[in-house]
Amino acid sequence: MTYIVGLTGGIGSGKSAAADLLEELGAAVVDTDVIAHELTAPGGPAIEPIRAAFGDGVIAQNGALDRAAMRRKVFADAPAKARLEGILHPMIRAEADRRSDASRAPYVVLVVPLLVESGGYRRRVQRVVVVDCPEEIQVVRVMSRSGLSEDEARAIMAAQVGRAQRLAVADDVIDNGGELAALRPQVEALHRKYLEMAAVS
Ligand code: ADP
Repeated sequence: MTYIVGLTGGIGSGKSAAADLLEELGAAVVDTDVIAHELTAPGGPAIEPIRAAFGDGVIAQNGALDRAAMRRKVFADAPAKARLEGILHPMIRAEADRRSDASRAPYVVLVVPLLVESGGYRRRVQRVVVVDCPEEIQVVRVMSRSGLSEDEARAIMAAQVGRAQRLAVADDVIDNGGELAALRPQVEALHRKYLEMAAVS
Protein backbone atom coordinates (compact mmCIF):
# COMPACT_ATOMS: atom_id res chain seq x y z
CA MET A 1 0.00 0.00 0.00
CA THR A 2 1.21 3.51 -0.81
CA TYR A 3 2.36 5.41 2.27
CA ILE A 4 0.58 8.77 2.22
CA VAL A 5 1.53 11.88 4.18
CA GLY A 6 -1.21 14.53 4.21
CA LEU A 7 0.26 18.03 4.03
CA THR A 8 -1.88 20.96 5.08
CA GLY A 9 -1.69 24.50 6.40
CA GLY A 10 -3.56 27.77 6.13
CA ILE A 11 -3.52 29.85 2.97
CA GLY A 12 -0.07 31.39 2.48
CA SER A 13 1.53 29.24 5.17
CA GLY A 14 3.95 27.73 2.65
CA LYS A 15 2.34 24.43 1.63
CA SER A 16 3.51 24.72 -1.97
CA ALA A 17 7.01 25.74 -0.91
CA ALA A 18 7.28 22.71 1.41
CA ALA A 19 5.71 20.32 -1.14
CA ASP A 20 8.11 21.52 -3.85
CA LEU A 21 11.09 20.71 -1.61
CA LEU A 22 9.71 17.26 -0.75
CA GLU A 23 9.19 16.57 -4.45
CA GLU A 24 12.75 17.66 -5.19
CA LEU A 25 13.94 15.14 -2.58
CA GLY A 26 12.02 12.30 -4.27
CA ALA A 27 8.51 12.21 -2.83
CA ALA A 28 5.52 12.15 -5.19
CA VAL A 29 3.29 15.19 -4.71
CA VAL A 30 -0.45 14.94 -5.36
CA ASP A 31 -2.06 18.37 -4.92
CA THR A 32 -5.85 18.53 -4.60
CA ASP A 33 -5.87 22.19 -5.72
CA VAL A 34 -4.05 21.26 -8.91
CA ILE A 35 -6.55 18.44 -9.50
CA ALA A 36 -9.48 20.84 -8.92
CA HIS A 37 -8.08 23.21 -11.54
CA GLU A 38 -7.58 20.40 -14.04
CA LEU A 39 -11.13 19.08 -13.53
CA THR A 40 -12.52 22.56 -14.24
CA ALA A 41 -10.20 23.48 -17.14
CA PRO A 42 -11.66 23.61 -20.68
CA GLY A 43 -12.95 20.12 -21.50
CA GLY A 44 -12.35 18.97 -17.92
CA PRO A 45 -14.63 16.20 -16.66
CA ALA A 46 -16.33 18.46 -14.08
CA ILE A 47 -17.44 21.06 -16.64
CA GLU A 48 -20.58 19.35 -17.98
CA PRO A 49 -21.92 18.28 -14.55
CA ILE A 50 -21.38 21.85 -13.33
CA ARG A 51 -23.09 23.29 -16.43
CA ALA A 52 -26.03 20.93 -15.88
CA ALA A 53 -26.38 22.04 -12.26
CA PHE A 54 -25.72 25.80 -12.59
CA GLY A 55 -26.26 26.74 -16.24
CA ASP A 56 -24.08 28.28 -18.96
CA GLY A 57 -23.52 31.41 -16.88
CA VAL A 58 -20.77 29.80 -14.82
CA ILE A 59 -18.82 28.50 -17.84
CA ALA A 60 -16.42 30.95 -19.50
CA GLN A 61 -16.08 31.47 -23.28
CA ASN A 62 -13.07 29.18 -23.41
CA GLY A 63 -15.00 26.33 -21.79
CA ALA A 64 -13.35 26.55 -18.35
CA LEU A 65 -15.21 27.13 -15.12
CA ASP A 66 -15.73 30.87 -14.64
CA ARG A 67 -14.45 31.00 -11.07
CA ALA A 68 -15.60 34.54 -10.37
CA ALA A 69 -19.14 33.80 -11.61
CA MET A 70 -19.21 30.56 -9.63
CA ARG A 71 -18.01 32.32 -6.48
CA ARG A 72 -20.78 34.91 -6.85
CA LYS A 73 -23.36 32.14 -7.21
CA VAL A 74 -22.34 30.17 -4.14
CA PHE A 75 -21.48 33.18 -1.98
CA ALA A 76 -24.04 33.27 0.84
CA ASP A 77 -25.95 30.36 -0.76
CA ALA A 78 -25.09 27.30 1.32
CA PRO A 79 -27.22 24.79 -0.67
CA ALA A 80 -25.59 25.93 -3.94
CA LYS A 81 -22.16 25.62 -2.36
CA ALA A 82 -23.02 22.13 -1.14
CA ARG A 83 -24.24 21.19 -4.63
CA LEU A 84 -20.97 22.37 -6.20
CA GLU A 85 -18.92 20.52 -3.61
CA GLY A 86 -21.08 17.44 -4.15
CA ILE A 87 -19.95 17.45 -7.78
CA LEU A 88 -16.31 18.39 -7.29
CA HIS A 89 -15.20 16.74 -4.06
CA PRO A 90 -15.88 13.10 -5.03
CA MET A 91 -14.12 13.69 -8.37
CA ILE A 92 -11.11 15.27 -6.64
CA ARG A 93 -10.90 12.44 -4.08
CA ALA A 94 -11.15 9.76 -6.79
CA GLU A 95 -8.41 11.40 -8.86
CA ALA A 96 -6.19 11.89 -5.79
CA ASP A 97 -6.61 8.18 -4.99
CA ARG A 98 -5.83 7.22 -8.58
CA ARG A 99 -2.64 9.30 -8.66
CA SER A 100 -1.51 8.09 -5.23
CA ASP A 101 -2.08 4.44 -6.20
CA ALA A 102 -0.21 4.91 -9.48
CA SER A 103 2.83 6.45 -7.81
CA ARG A 104 6.11 4.55 -7.77
CA ALA A 105 7.78 7.00 -5.39
CA PRO A 106 8.74 5.81 -1.88
CA TYR A 107 5.82 7.80 -0.45
CA VAL A 108 3.17 10.29 -1.53
CA VAL A 109 2.64 13.80 -0.18
CA LEU A 110 -1.07 14.58 -0.53
CA VAL A 111 -1.52 18.36 -0.37
CA VAL A 112 -4.98 19.18 0.99
CA PRO A 113 -5.58 22.80 2.05
CA LEU A 114 -8.73 21.85 4.00
CA LEU A 115 -7.51 18.51 5.36
CA VAL A 116 -8.50 19.33 8.94
CA GLU A 117 -11.95 20.49 7.83
CA SER A 118 -12.70 17.42 5.69
CA GLY A 119 -12.82 14.03 7.37
CA GLY A 120 -12.61 12.22 4.03
CA TYR A 121 -8.94 13.02 3.72
CA ARG A 122 -7.84 12.32 7.26
CA ARG A 123 -8.91 8.74 6.73
CA ARG A 124 -6.82 8.55 3.57
CA VAL A 125 -3.47 9.53 5.08
CA GLN A 126 -1.12 7.71 7.41
CA ARG A 127 0.32 10.92 8.81
CA VAL A 128 -0.48 14.63 8.91
CA VAL A 129 2.15 17.33 8.52
CA VAL A 130 1.11 20.93 9.14
CA VAL A 131 2.99 23.90 7.67
CA ASP A 132 2.66 26.52 10.35
CA CYS A 133 3.24 30.24 10.58
CA PRO A 134 1.72 33.11 12.55
CA GLU A 135 -1.52 34.42 11.08
CA GLU A 136 -0.11 37.92 10.65
CA ILE A 137 2.60 36.51 8.40
CA GLN A 138 0.01 34.54 6.40
CA VAL A 139 -1.83 37.80 5.69
CA VAL A 140 1.33 39.51 4.43
CA ARG A 141 2.30 36.57 2.19
CA VAL A 142 -1.18 36.18 0.71
CA MET A 143 -1.38 39.91 -0.03
CA SER A 144 2.01 40.00 -1.74
CA ARG A 145 1.45 36.75 -3.68
CA SER A 146 -2.02 37.38 -5.05
CA GLY A 147 -2.57 41.12 -4.76
CA LEU A 148 -5.56 40.57 -2.46
CA SER A 149 -6.46 43.25 0.05
CA GLU A 150 -5.91 42.65 3.74
CA ASP A 151 -9.68 42.25 4.23
CA GLU A 152 -9.89 39.67 1.44
CA ALA A 153 -6.95 37.73 2.85
CA ARG A 154 -8.49 37.76 6.33
CA ALA A 155 -11.89 36.70 4.96
CA ILE A 156 -10.35 33.60 3.34
CA MET A 157 -8.50 32.79 6.56
CA ALA A 158 -11.70 33.24 8.59
CA ALA A 159 -13.35 30.51 6.48
CA GLN A 160 -10.54 28.05 7.37
CA VAL A 161 -9.94 26.44 10.76
CA GLY A 162 -7.64 28.42 13.03
CA ARG A 163 -3.99 27.74 13.69
CA ALA A 164 -4.53 25.96 17.02
CA GLN A 165 -7.13 23.56 15.62
CA ARG A 166 -4.84 22.67 12.75
CA LEU A 167 -1.86 22.12 15.03
CA ALA A 168 -4.01 19.87 17.22
CA VAL A 169 -4.23 17.23 14.46
CA ALA A 170 -0.58 17.48 13.36
CA ASP A 171 1.74 14.51 13.69
CA ASP A 172 4.57 16.71 12.43
CA VAL A 173 4.91 20.48 12.17
CA ILE A 174 7.01 22.50 9.73
CA ASP A 175 7.72 25.93 11.20
CA ASN A 176 7.59 28.35 8.27
CA GLY A 177 7.39 31.53 10.30
CA GLY A 178 10.98 32.35 9.47
CA GLU A 179 12.99 32.75 6.29
CA LEU A 180 12.61 30.44 3.34
CA ALA A 181 16.13 29.12 4.03
CA ALA A 182 14.92 27.68 7.34
CA LEU A 183 12.44 25.45 5.52
CA ARG A 184 14.90 23.13 3.80
CA PRO A 185 16.59 21.53 6.83
CA GLN A 186 13.22 20.82 8.43
CA VAL A 187 11.87 19.32 5.23
CA GLU A 188 15.01 17.22 4.76
CA ALA A 189 14.69 15.79 8.26
CA LEU A 190 11.03 14.93 7.69
CA HIS A 191 11.83 13.34 4.34
CA ARG A 192 14.31 11.00 6.00
CA LYS A 193 11.73 10.14 8.63
CA TYR A 194 9.01 9.47 6.03
CA LEU A 195 11.34 7.26 3.98
CA GLU A 196 11.89 5.13 7.11
CA MET A 197 8.20 5.05 8.00
CA ALA A 198 7.19 4.15 4.45
CA ALA A 199 9.77 1.36 4.34
CA VAL A 200 8.34 -0.39 7.41
CA SER A 201 4.67 0.28 6.63
P1 ADP B 1 0.39 28.04 0.34
O1 ADP B 1 0.66 26.99 -0.72
O2 ADP B 1 0.31 27.47 1.72
O3 ADP B 1 -0.77 28.94 0.05
P2 ADP B 1 2.90 29.16 -0.64
O4 ADP B 1 3.88 28.07 -0.53
O5 ADP B 1 2.33 29.45 -1.99
O6 ADP B 1 1.68 28.98 0.41
O7 ADP B 1 3.53 30.48 -0.02
C1 ADP B 1 2.80 31.72 -0.04
C2 ADP B 1 3.71 32.84 -0.54
O8 ADP B 1 4.67 33.11 0.45
C3 ADP B 1 4.46 32.49 -1.80
O9 ADP B 1 4.58 33.65 -2.57
C4 ADP B 1 5.81 32.01 -1.28
O10 ADP B 1 6.83 32.22 -2.22
C5 ADP B 1 6.00 32.86 -0.04
N1 ADP B 1 6.72 32.16 1.05
C6 ADP B 1 6.58 30.89 1.47
N2 ADP B 1 7.39 30.63 2.52
C7 ADP B 1 8.06 31.77 2.77
C8 ADP B 1 9.05 32.16 3.74
N3 ADP B 1 9.51 31.30 4.68
N4 ADP B 1 9.52 33.42 3.69
C9 ADP B 1 9.06 34.29 2.77
N5 ADP B 1 8.14 34.01 1.83
C10 ADP B 1 7.64 32.76 1.83
